[in-house]
Amino acid sequence: MAWDFETDPEYQKKLDWVQEFVENEVEPLTQIGVGMGGVKSKTYQKAVRPLQAKVKEMGLWACHLTPDLGGQGYGQVKLALLNEKLGRVGLAPVVFGCQAPDTGNAEIIAHYGTKEQKDKYLWPLLNNEITSAFSMSEPTGGSDPLFFKTRAELHGDEWVINGEKWFSTGARNAEVLVVYAVTDPDHKDPYKRMSMFLVPKKTPGVEILRNVGVGGMGGGNEGYVRYTNAKVPFDAMLGPRGAAFELGQVRLGGGRVHHAMRTVGQCQKALDLMCQRAVSRSTRDGRLGDYQMVQEQIADSYIQLQQFRLMVLHVAWLIDKHKDYKKVRKDIAAVKVAMPKVYHDIAANALHIHGALGVSNEMPFMGMVTSSFVMGIADGPTEVHKITVAKQLLKDFRPDNDLFPSYHLPKVRERARQKHADLVEELKAEWANRARSIDAL
Ligand SMILES: Cc1cc2nc3c(=O)[nH]c(=O)nc-3n(C[C@H](O)[C@H](O)[C@H](O)COP(=O)(O)OP(=O)(O)OC[C@H]3O[C@@H](n4cnc5c(N)ncnc54)[C@H](O)[C@@H]3O)c2cc1C
Repeated sequence: MAWDFETDPEYQKKLDWVQEFVENEVEPLTQIGVGMGGVKSKTYQKAVRPLQAKVKEMGLWACHLTPDLGGQGYGQVKLALLNEKLGRVGLAPVVFGCQAPDTGNAEIIAHYGTKEQKDKYLWPLLNNEITSAFSMSEPTGGSDPLFFKTRAELHGDEWVINGEKWFSTGARNAEVLVVYAVTDPDHKDPYKRMSMFLVPKKTPGVEILRNVGVGGMGGGNEGYVRYTNAKVPFDAMLGPRGAAFELGQVRLGGGRVHHAMRTVGQCQKALDLMCQRAVSRSTRDGRLGDYQMVQEQIADSYIQLQQFRLMVLHVAWLIDKHKDYKKVRKDIAAVKVAMPKVYHDIAANALHIHGALGVSNEMPFMGMVTSSFVMGIADGPTEVHKITVAKQLLKDFRPDNDLFPSYHLPKVRERARQKHADLVEELKAEWANRARSIDAL
């Protein structure tokens, strides 16, 4: 009997420390734009490095990693509880060494990289000495990787890359771009036509056309990147030829769950602010929190958050158990589908209860609502993940050739008759007696 909803007290102490540290030390930095200039900027060195040193002292650096990669080997459940705290503030994952997209990129380099690739990129990424971007989506194809057009052709001992990618988050400050490109356009399996490459951003022919901004979330961080005859050496390929799709799934599997963990933190923050407002703001008949319609919004938000949080923790537990994202595909997809709606609804309730202040840039709710839409699109839109959930569920069912499935109850009765023939006779007698006694009335 191993169901347990308790956090071990020693770890809880660490989580309490994280909450206070993030609120007092990290959140103020986000309000003055620290981090925008990249890891090599003077302001980053001055403001972020000392905080990272404190995190390392506390033994909380890069908790998503196993000890051989410099992490704590905590596993996904502990990571989920930590990410709930880090998710409250945008810069916090950077301070704790577990920020996207570097976490996912480092994960595939750790799994599939050669020794040279690890020396060049993995260790500097894990130490946050450099950052990276994942350059997969294209203007002509996002949800459907079979529409990607960027080509990598082998000329002598070099790959020559041509094409356009957009929404390469963080490309602006990245040292290396993880690029999806078609290498084998005629392969009979369409999922084996693409390979992945590690492309230094300073490679001639790599050009950031612009940095696209998203909603109300400040300056553009989504790189629109053009590759024109960008040449990389033969050994710049990451993993086997034709394996980009497989590597991408490994990378995105973990990334989607980590986004969900951090979204729990965002939702909790919105709910806390909502409750604070409800007990602080009064109108002529009492506090906002005394009105039933406000209470309904608070209760609905709490219930949605609890459902979602348990779902996320359960997926984290499943990943720890199976140690294989593929075995947990259905549940990861289900969490991905649930996330945007829960996030949207709670942020919208919090925004609404704050009135005009709620839509202003003095509160975080507009950014949260925008982010909720991003969560429904980035890493694959909701519809695609719903298809995964349904397909995974349906594969455990076989067609019933005997009877139409709606004849389920007669079938069960037939089984009962066969299994409990004596009982059926007794019941018939009982009912006959009862009918006689009713007749006698
Ligand atoms: C903030 C942000 C950051 C991002 N960061 C990165 C990044 O770092 N690297 C990267 O490579 N990409 C990144 N992306 C891109 C992201 O992966 C794509 O936006 C996503 O895969 C969807 O592709 P698309 O935008 O081309 O939408 P489309 O593929 O054009 O889909 C548009 C809509 O069509 C519908 N649709 C599509 N397919 C189906 C289907 N099979 N069934 C039913 N309906 C469907 C859905 O409603 C979907 O929302 C980011 C996106 C955002 C918004």
